Amino acid sequence: MIPYGKQEITDIDIDRVVNILRSDFITQGPVVPKFEDAVANYCGANFSVAVNSATSALHLACLAIGLGFGDILWTSPNTFVASANCGLYCGAKVDFVDIDSETGNISIDSLRTKLAKSKESGKLPKVVVPVHFAGASCDMRAIYDLSRLYGFRVIEDASHAIGGMYDGGYVGNCKYSDITIFSFHPVKIITTGEGGMALTNNAQYASQMRLLRSHGIVRDLIGSDLSRQEGAWYYEQIQLGFNYRMTDIQAALGLSQLQRLEEYINARSLLVDRYENALQSLPIKRMTYSPSVKSANHLYVIQLDETEKNISRRFIFDEMRKNGIGVNVHYIPVHLQPYYVGMGFKRGDFPVSEHFYSRALTLPLYPKLSDVEQAKVIKTLTQLLI
Ligand SMILES: *Cc1c(COP(=O)(O)O)cnc(C)c1O
Repeated sequence: MIPYGKQEITDIDIDRVVNILRSDFITQGPVVPKFEDAVANYCGANFSVAVNSATSALHLACLAIGLGFGDILWTSPNTFVASANCGLYCGAKVDFVDIDSETGNISIDSLRTKLAKSKESGKLPKVVVPVHFAGASCDMRAIYDLSRLYGFRVIEDASHAIGGMYDGGYVGNCKYSDITIFSFHPVKIITTGEGGMALTNNAQYASQMRLLRSHGIVRDLIGSDLSRQEGAWYYEQIQLGFNYRMTDIQAALGLSQLQRLEEYINARSLLVDRYENALQSLPIKRMTYSPSVKSANHLYVIQLDETEKNISRRFIFDEMRKNGIGVNVHYIPVHLQPYYVGMGFKRGDFPVSEHFYSRALTLPLYPKLSDVEQAKVIKTLTQLLI
């Protein structure tokens, strides 16, 4: 089966990881800050905090901003559940803003309308989480302007988008946001097995996330009155934190993968160009982006047209799988998950996301997808659709 996404692990990656296994540190040690610095430098952010998943990074980002009971977080429904769950972890309420069907990203018009309405009812969000669907940045400048107008904070869920660009800068530079999150899960652009990172230009957010990543414990009290009194073993838990640390094993893999980020982005971009050319005449809708966006191309998502033949997405999906092509669907709208339905959301609440979901199909896309494999994907889909 040709999968929809796949990591690449090279011999160099393996050597780097083995070196760590032979060293003194296998949990968070000296390689984690090296990986953090390398990603922050690449993206152009001042600070970065590596953790054990993007989900943890989202949680810490919300906490650093002070999201809590009685607050509200908004995201879009066309995402993985973690973009919304982070609000619930903090005791906040979660609500959604519908998407733009051209990009799958949060609709700026819907956001603007919902903000105006929510201002009247006194239910403005404290945090908005724009998700860079498939690797293409949301319209961050517009979101930033609205955040100034309405006083909310912005956490970019860039789980799909490391290596992507917006407005001439790398996603992750936090030019138009408070914090940006990356995921290093194996299906994402670069991997650490499991892992994530939060980037920010705000020193306070960074130190708060570092503190909460490791139990809320401070150890660098050496020289303080208390440690003189108690001894060099002394540490203090000053907040309720978590064990969200990344290991040096993971960081070494991430650092090694990061060397190939540009190469990966270029390979993905070439594959997407080929899909775009080959699928032009099919009854499908392809994504379109503004010229200020350069996608990292994490996913290649098409929407099947509702043709007279009325071929169902389910049929195409099953036939592709039968032919050994691991297509996928991104995303089941989060508000339709049973857990969220239990909170009062229902079908019809976010119609653009629901329609997008009903027609969406994700085709295989990863740097090592071969010409022969891609040709098979194209040929099979073409035969099914015309
Ligand atoms: C993968 C993903 C996450 C969660 O990432 P983990 O590292 O697996 O926790 C969050 N948001 C989006 C949009 C994702 O695709």
